Amino acid sequence: MTTEHGGDVRLTGISKSYGSFTAVHPLDLTVPEGSFFALLGASGCGKTTTLRMIAGLEEPTTGTVVLGDQDVTALPPYKRPVNTVFQSYALFPHLDIFENVAFGLRRRGIRSVKKQVGEMLDLVQLGDLARRKPHQLSGGQQQRVALARALINHPRVLLLDEPLGALDLKLRRQMQLELKRIQTEVGITFVHVTHDQEEAMTMADTVAVMNGGRVEQLGAPADLYEHPRTTFVANFLGTSNLIAGSVTAREGEDLVVAAAGEVLRLPAARCPDGLAPGGRLLVGIRPEKVSLAHAEDAADLPAGRNRVAGTVTATSFIGVSTQYRISGPAGPDLEVYVQNVERDTRLAPGAPVVLHWNPAHAFGLDAAGDGAEAGTGPTEEAA
Ligand code: ATP
Repeated sequence: MTTEHGGDVRLTGISKSYGSFTAVHPLDLTVPEGSFFALLGASGCGKTTTLRMIAGLEEPTTGTVVLGDQDVTALPPYKRPVNTVFQSYALFPHLDIFENVAFGLRRRGIRSVKKQVGEMLDLVQLGDLARRKPHQLSGGQQQRVALARALINHPRVLLLDEPLGALDLKLRRQMQLELKRIQTEVGITFVHVTHDQEEAMTMADTVAVMNGGRVEQLGAPADLYEHPRTTFVANFLGTSNLIAGSVTAREGEDLVVAAAGEVLRLPAARCPDGLAPGGRLLVGIRPEKVSLAHAEDAADLPAGRNRVAGTVTATSFIGVSTQYRISGPAGPDLEVYVQNVERDTRLAPGAPVVLHWNPAHAFGLDAAGDGAEAGTGPTEEAA
């Protein structure tokens, strides 16, 4: 399928206020043509408002929206080269699937629609259900029809507002992969809004994490996960152990940090700029990157690892891994995820343990960072 060029989205100084409340603070954002971009954040962070300003459904208080080389800020939604797929896909109940998909073409006076509709139905793998009515389809199939109905208009940009929100978890996982496949195949710019971190990470090339009407961090999913720059991002995308400390020295590429009565190391390149001896920071380490040893075996641990001591307070066996909660000088609720290869039965609640990890896997955060509101646990799935 071919699309017109000019599918990059450029937002410049765009903001939205309702009276004295600012839902979106002035925002500069470029979504490259052909990319899959996700706006991710908790309820109320301003992601839907941002999407609606791109669609033309919400008038920005300040700023401009440019699609390709066209400033569309003053254009009504129907004159913009975008289409939106919503959570409630709102198909026409009295029309069959074929006619639902053909709708946009017929409205533009195009008579011979068969080939295009056929291609679209094949793309979303519904070719054999063309003559069914929407109520004869499952939720996932209806969502595919909604997608085909939007894509047949050849928008330069497809906006997706929690499009999988109404589907159950298993179907949602399946549709995530499906959406990614379709996006790759059609090559149209997709801008996707979701509060589900796994969904954003599975599908998007670039994720913008929003918090309180601002973009906290923007990047490829793996970069955001491996190198979060704020405590909010560190805990909104998965879980992080954050240990308060202060820099005592710089040795080569590493910062040496006094934390929890121990000496920890981490790469200076993975810390905020300008941290000098005396500077405070949070040392972050993901639970799956920490190994756990019983205190009796502490002497046998390899050299060069960061270590902190603690006591197991809870364990949960979840099949592929066991999750340990540990309390110690480094924090009351440290988390460690251990793959179930050989389980050490001594690591039960009450056991004295040593947590240890490769210094290269740690990251540093500004100790003054806000974002504690993101909580320490993984984000909840939508109901
Ligand atoms: P959700 O996932 O719940 O849809 P969101 O991140 O998409 O959340 P928005 O819908 O963009 O959030 O809303 C951002 C903020 O703006 C919210 O606090 C919301 O209450 C507020 N808001 C949205 N529309 C209006 C309006 N018409 N008048 C006043 N406040 C509004």
